[in-house]
Amino acid sequence: MKKIKGLFLALTLILIANTQYQLPASAKQTEKVEIPVLLYHVVKPDPDPNNPYQFSLEEFEKHMAYLHENGYRTLTMKQYFNILDKKAAMPKKPILLTFDDNSNDFYPYVYPVLQKYGMKATQFTVSSWVDGNWNMTSSELLTVMENGVDIQNHTVTHPFLAELSRDQQYAEINETTNALKELTGRTTNAFAYPYGNYNADTISILEELGFKGAFKVGGGISTDQSERYELPRIMILQEHTLTDFIRMIETGY
Ligand SMILES: [Zn+2]
Repeated sequence: MKKIKGLFLALTLILIANTQYQLPASAKQTEKVEIPVLLYHVVKPDPDPNNPYQFSLEEFEKHMAYLHENGYRTLTMKQYFNILDKKAAMPKKPILLTFDDNSNDFYPYVYPVLQKYGMKATQFTVSSWVDGNWNMTSSELLTVMENGVDIQNHTVTHPFLAELSRDQQYAEINETTNALKELTGRTTNAFAYPYGNYNADTISILEELGFKGAFKVGGGISTDQSERYELPRIMILQEHTLTDFIRMIETGY
């Protein structure tokens, strides 16, 4: 009898263990959504040592190789917002790569590295700079767009938005939406604040125009709890080593 009781107890324990084992379905939904968003500017073989925003291509290649070798999954902007909105499952190590200012190093230097690893990225584009003398051409923008690079809104002239009237801010944002729509045939729904500078008017305009979110500079790792119009980005500067990079994508700082 004791033996049977013992067996029964063992079976019950296995059953309980199994039941708990099936719980992760609900546990999954409470899993923390954390997505590092990287911000690069110019990336080229010979960065100006006096310009902290210019980054070395050789170091950039090390970053992308590290992400590739360590199982990071780069996201499109659509995937990024779907994960934040819980409309899509989060891959194990998601990351969003963003580049600001549509500068002319992107096509010859950054884009081939992204292509090599099949990586997705976003180019926050200043519409009056398209075809400018230190910027990407229209046809380069269209080529990268067809190959995994989202073209998103970074204003017409790259102003300090908080210094402008509401009407001026509206024009800076909406005219770029129109110009990029004309160029690419696609509607932009993500925004990056030039210089990370904005005020309450900027946010209300972005909401009014139906943007899904906007990115600032700094602030750690983005999560589903982040303010949608103040999404953090990790800015990569020339001084950062590979060790800094690894710490920053893990901790946000
Ligand atoms: Zn910018």
